[in-house]
Amino acid sequence: MRFIDEFRNSAAGHGLAVRIQEKKVRPVNLMEVCGTHTVAIFKHGIRQLLPEKVSMLSGPGCPVCVTPNVDIDKAIALAQNGGVILATFGDMMKVPGSYSSLHQVKAAGADIRVVYSVLDALRIAQDNPRKSVVFFGVGFETTAPTTASAILEAERLGIKNFFFLSVHKLIPPAMRALLDSDEVHIDGFVCPGHVSTIIGSHPYEFIPKEYGIPCVIAGFEPLDILQAIEMLLVQVAAKEARVDIQYRRAVRKQGNPIALKYLSTVFEVTDACWRGIGIIPESGLKLGQKYGRFDAESAFQIVTRPPREAKDCRCGDILRGVSTPRECHLFAKVCTPEHPVGPCMVSTEGTCSAWYLYGGEDKALPQLKEL
Ligand code: SF4
Repeated sequence: MRFIDEFRNSAAGHGLAVRIQEKKVRPVNLMEVCGTHTVAIFKHGIRQLLPEKVSMLSGPGCPVCVTPNVDIDKAIALAQNGGVILATFGDMMKVPGSYSSLHQVKAAGADIRVVYSVLDALRIAQDNPRKSVVFFGVGFETTAPTTASAILEAERLGIKNFFFLSVHKLIPPAMRALLDSDEVHIDGFVCPGHVSTIIGSHPYEFIPKEYGIPCVIAGFEPLDILQAIEMLLVQVAAKEARVDIQYRRAVRKQGNPIALKYLSTVFEVTDACWRGIGIIPESGLKLGQKYGRFDAESAFQIVTRPPREAKDCRCGDILRGVSTPRECHLFAKVCTPEHPVGPCMVSTEGTCSAWYLYGGEDKALPQLKEL
């Protein structure tokens, strides 16, 4: 298949769904660990195509959602520094911090610019030499190489007023944390396609080896996801566990060596705090010593009040896959995309937003529409 509509072909999708239904497997919980997968699964009605014995869980795959309040509060504090222009992605603007949001402090006069790429932030720094420009970059392994390239470019150009508040995170350690927590039973992972274009399949090998759990790296079209589910069930039925790549048109076993080189040149692996999970060892990226002068936390004195969570928001439980949005009594009543209480409703990749927009699993959806 070469064209997008072929990956959304209704007849082929229903054929895959029938094959999934016919698989003789015990009841299984499969977790997708990517916000883009979560949205695609809801948008295309994939849950409704699956037999009862196959349950889909959503994991901590939305970078906006897993950024804890303590980091959002730091970004807000930086934005309130009169000499700073804070640059960030649009999704971060409405995410509530402990006491405010970037949207609110911008309305109160802070200079916050919404950018599409870290390179836009670099350009803002070049255009505003009298100001300090801080890029608040959230993201996983997918976006971190671009940040690394911007840092290298800033170094090459000798730009002195560009800084980076690093909240980049790494997905495989979060998967290990979920497995070690024993809070949720997982029989297979639909591994993130975008992240895997960078890291390849090796970083997931510990999952089948140490935990005996199958993994399939999947693309984002409905047929990709259905095929990945079928591939997981084949492993489960055969009592096998390995990392398979369904998304072969984009993912190679060894990943992207150029992007990986950027990462290892600029960043060091460090412990990181995830919303709802806490500190996960070696799950974040910080600037390496050579590039430490770009680190906003070293360059500025950032003073914040103790972080606190929104009352009754269950984003933490949802990100660990132990609750669904329907179990949050604020869902769709107090908390909506227009008035989000937690980040899982703000982000377009958030699980609460996907349930709200596409109906969760208890609403009849048009199944796998031909687009
Ligand atoms: Fe938080 Fe809103 Fe989701 Fe409830 S519905 S968990 S308040 S984001």
